[in-house]
Amino acid sequence: ADITAAYLDRIDTHADTLNALITRTDAAARERAAALDARADGALAGLPIIHKDIFCTKGVKTSCASRMLDNFIAPYNATVVERLHAAGTVTLGKANMDEFAMGSSNENSFYGAVKNPWNLDFVPGGSSGGSAAAVAAGLAPAATGTDTGGSIRQPAAFCGVTGIKPTYGRVSRYGMIAFASSLDQGGCFARSAEDCAHVLTAMAGFDERDSTSVERDVPDYASQLTGDISGLTIGLPREYFAEGLEAGSREVIDAAIDQMKALGANVVEIDMPHTDLAVSTYYVIAPAEASSNLARFDGVRYGYRCADPVDLDDLYTRSRAEGFGPEVQRRIMMGAYVLSAGYYDAYYLKAQKTRRLIAGDFHDAFAKVDLIAAPVTQAPAFPIGEKADDPVAMYLNDVYTLPASLAGVPGMSVPAGFVDGLPVGLQLIAPWFEEGRLLNAAHSYQ
Ligand code: GLN
Repeated sequence: ADITAAYLDRIDTHADTLNALITRTDAAARERAAALDARADGALAGLPIIHKDIFCTKGVKTSCASRMLDNFIAPYNATVVERLHAAGTVTLGKANMDEFAMGSSNENSFYGAVKNPWNLDFVPGGSSGGSAAAVAAGLAPAATGTDTGGSIRQPAAFCGVTGIKPTYGRVSRYGMIAFASSLDQGGCFARSAEDCAHVLTAMAGFDERDSTSVERDVPDYASQLTGDISGLTIGLPREYFAEGLEAGSREVIDAAIDQMKALGANVVEIDMPHTDLAVSTYYVIAPAEASSNLARFDGVRYGYRCADPVDLDDLYTRSRAEGFGPEVQRRIMMGAYVLSAGYYDAYYLKAQKTRRLIAGDFHDAFAKVDLIAAPVTQAPAFPIGEKADDPVAMYLNDVYTLPASLAGVPGMSVPAGFVDGLPVGLQLIAPWFEEGRLLNAAHSYQ
């Protein structure tokens, strides 16, 4: 209860400045923490946590940072929330995010932009910006997030915390509001790989309510943290260290890789020749799936409904036009376009094929190396507003995170250093279901 109270005090002092939370659940948190004092079993017993507002929380507003769901009280818990609760966590509140997880800067929220704790004029990254900022500012020791194309790794990098996106299918998507179902994956943020290991162990695993969750045992990730990476072969993809990577960030990443060499890792250069197809591939597939997933928000069943509709068409049209923000509308239009007759083969089907080539790059790479190391972003966080009016510049920001998402492999961002007072993250990527290897590499280096 004391720990929860201490974090609630931090939230009192800093949450509004950062705009990191959409909903606070102080009273429930205090009550639960007091009840847990009597039951200190397990690594997560009594651990305060903040959930991204994309995860359904029973009886608590679950908005996905959208006007569309501003009035939505979830009637059930997401599996992730349920499992963490069973492990003993105490929910402090729901984190701000980009609307429906679409964005890389957390500027696309109905509740306003989140600020980077290291410099309030800069973005925290997105879409899980509130979760990353909350952990960076010490509002909670851990937070959940989701990563469809980088939304855990990129904000972790921009805020200087550790974040892991597990293998696609490792964590249940049940109760996690869908953006692009073939890419969406829940994960977490914490201050260290060790803390992430404990949280992930509790979150992960097969769920019969998510048909894409994988039936495979979950190891105790914390027990895999030996700190030994000697003999591990780490591949550096040439395509990630090419033009575009800012010099200061490159120095930080190089120094991190040197440190892993000093710990006994073998470092080799590799080629991932289809990397430059990732942005165009992702920005066809993700909007296509989003346009389908977001069709359910029709103003009828739940969520926002426009005032005084004259007929059913008017109800649909105005509820959606008023309920969704500009980026969400852009994605729905792009998605509907690439799926429409005449364009389906040219865009959607083509993107499915290039996605396969990108996954093939990872298959080939992991035949030679145990782990891939790369930057998370080309540069540290950018100023709030800088890319807000330029969607393409915003999309290009995702070049280094999208390939692992398209391939479904697990990836992490590990704090590596600073450029001009802003954090830089090192990205580590492992083969499918090798989260333990990934976390151990991050742990050895931390
Ligand atoms: N920035 C990417 C997008 O806007 C990724 C978002 C995410 O991973 N949820 O789609």
